Amino acid sequence: MIVAQQKNIKDIAEMVADAQKVLLAGCAGCVTVCLAGGEKETEVLAAALRIMRKLQGNPLETVTYVATRQCDPEYIEAMDGLVKDVDAVISLACGVGVQYLAERFKDKWVVPALDTKFVGGAVKHGVWEERCGLCGDCVLHRTGGICPIIRCSKSILNGPCGGSQNGKCEISKDVDCAWQLIYDRMKALGKLDKLMEIQMPKDWSKARDGGPRRAIREDVIIG
Ligand code: SF4
Ligand code: SF4
Repeated sequence: MIVAQQKNIKDIAEMVADAQKVLLAGCAGCVTVCLAGGEKETEVLAAALRIMRKLQGNPLETVTYVATRQCDPEYIEAMDGLVKDVDAVISLACGVGVQYLAERFKDKWVVPALDTKFVGGAVKHGVWEERCGLCGDCVLHRTGGICPIIRCSKSILNGPCGGSQNGKCEISKDVDCAWQLIYDRMKALGKLDKLMEIQMPKDWSKARDGGPRRAIREDVIIG
């Protein structure tokens, strides 16, 4: 999932300092799971902004809405009526959601309440960690299901480097050496011979298509 974190409330307030009425748009997707932009966070942020503005003697009116997914046009259509009479929209979605709102509501000031961090998952309750760098050319079949691009600090494809010490990465004793993890897993699977195959440099053109990447579902006919 996409992991995001809420920005400092002072920074969010500053972005809508000229507005008298704002729509706070949450998203029920990934940002709900990482407790950054779901229903609760949307209501709490709305209340905090109202209090802040009241104390400044410049009250702010807020409306809230949580879309099933802000990265899907069919779910943001429902906001059309709400957006009409606000001065600005604060999106509590990832950067994709913010851009979708900005594209749909062309005459509105749309701002991000979150910082979109990475693609990852929970490693323990309330802690998320990056797991995929979206390289577009997955090599997990060669590395025992452990991503060398993200989990190795140097994104080495033929590791480990000379800094690996006692299973830890040279950047910190708190960071596991990805290549130690890869070695241990391949050994346990009886596939160490696979690590003898030199991995050629990655084709990074797959991480960029000369612009935003596209994925087209097989059954979709492009007109
Ligand atoms: S190899 Fe690329 S696609 Fe596969 S997990 Fe790593 S970054 Fe993601
Ligand atoms: S010590 Fe391991 S994880 Fe750190 S940079 Fe070297 S190979 Fe990568």
